[in-house]
Amino acid sequence: MIIDCHGHYTTEPGKLFNFRDKQLAGLADASRKPSSDNLGITDDEIRVSIEGAQRKQQKERGTDLTIFSPRASGMAHHVGTEAVSQQWTRICNDLVYRVTELFPTNFIGVCQLPQHPGVSPANCVKELERCVKELGFVGCNLSPDPSGGYWQDPPMTDRYWYPIYEKMCELDVPAMVHVSSSCNPCFHATGAHYINGDTTAFMQFISGGEKLFKDFPNLRFIIPHGGGAVPYHWGRYRGLAQDMGKPPIEDWLLKHVYFDTCVYHQPGINLLAEVIPTDNILFASEMVGAVKGIDPKSGHNYDDTRRYVDKLAVSAADKEKIFETNVYKVYPRVKERMKKVGLA
Ligand SMILES: [Zn+2]
Repeated sequence: MIIDCHGHYTTEPGKLFNFRDKQLAGLADASRKPSSDNLGITDDEIRVSIEGAQRKQQKERGTDLTIFSPRASGMAHHVGTEAVSQQWTRICNDLVYRVTELFPTNFIGVCQLPQHPGVSPANCVKELERCVKELGFVGCNLSPDPSGGYWQDPPMTDRYWYPIYEKMCELDVPAMVHVSSSCNPCFHATGAHYINGDTTAFMQFISGGEKLFKDFPNLRFIIPHGGGAVPYHWGRYRGLAQDMGKPPIEDWLLKHVYFDTCVYHQPGINLLAEVIPTDNILFASEMVGAVKGIDPKSGHNYDDTRRYVDKLAVSAADKEKIFETNVYKVYPRVKERMKKVGLA
């Protein structure tokens, strides 16, 4: 069993965007608001959108199950008002739920949250609870920067975030630290803002995580995109923690923080596995997503990350952890869901 812990619904039917256009037009002119939350998307339209893309790639690449969430750049928490974010989030999550119902053995849901800059993450608690308890989702994507590149909210270790952490721990679900689109022209979304988000969150955990993880001993985060710049600069982060008088980060931080394998070349994955313990690495590709092309050097898609993990010089037992069993530790509800759909 190969479980990809990081996939987004990036091939949504166009009717979703028709709704979004009307929703945003409604901000200036209430008469243009969508009349209902019903997108008018049929099951067949969803099937086609998945079968020709994510499902096709699962088959071609030999992966089985994807932990699947709404398009990350589409979350756009900063757009409009908090009410807009609430409605949009519910609609995007419901659409992912329909994918998981139509393809129950291939996709398991993870939700986006109705964050909005300057609004307490307490506003996300209800939606997380709905997605986990009613829709069978197993985790959430939590943006450290709902402003879209201007970093206006407190660091993730601040008490500001505690309401959502309380609910995550109660439900026993992790969060993938995942920013959305960038509205700051200095930061390209997937090339800079994503990697900044990953790296910044990790440094926040070093600075303030001791208290946070003492308060929430079961809190778990996945830092995507291979951990941003973190594995490459592992010595810097260990050294900074040491200078701050912290215990070795391997002894406490890595009990709460995991990295995925969305690094799109072999040397990068080799470095990840050399630096980060295999207990903390989860297989992921983020397909169909950030980088869609074929690497002329390898002849394969950059995001065909299974090839890189297959070639890692680690034991078969370690590969099994990366491909499958670490997921059960980080997302305990995956096993539950697999049992429900006959996979376990
Ligand atoms: Zn992503």
